[in-house]
Amino acid sequence: MINDLRKALEERDIEDFRFTPQRVAIYHYLSQSDKHPTAEEIFKELKKKFPSMSIATIYNNLKAFKYAGLVQELALKNTTRFELNSGFHYHVICQHCGEIKDLHYPVFEDVQQFAKQHTGFQIYSHSIEFQGICETCQAEGNMKKTS
Ligand SMILES: [Zn+2]
Ligand SMILES: [Zn+2]
Repeated sequence: MINDLRKALEERDIEDFRFTPQRVAIYHYLSQSDKHPTAEEIFKELKKKFPSMSIATIYNNLKAFKYAGLVQELALKNTTRFELNSGFHYHVICQHCGEIKDLHYPVFEDVQQFAKQHTGFQIYSHSIEFQGICETCQAEGNMKKTS
């Protein structure tokens, strides 16, 4: 699993990146998860493997990954979530249970172009977030928005 990390660093020409077992484990965890975990969730999971690890270690490593461009931070509602940097994409969020799904949909890049043409702005980013109810919650009859 250290090889995934090596490869990602190579792709970005990053040479001085320290490898610690915790760091490799955090990267691996994120690469296996499509759940956009919070730092606390990562901590809870990895604590099983590294009982003496503190949550500060998680935060510090996430920061290092972010700095290296390997991890993206998402500010959603009142939580901060993390995922590997898998290129630009959108999020569809269940208003009932908080499940987040990735949506890769390049058509919106046209909208960014359109915004640039119509305003003369140099546009470097945009965000669109979809809110709804996930399939699991629909099946359980939780159709209503909770917040
Ligand atoms: Zn849901
Ligand atoms: Zn995502």
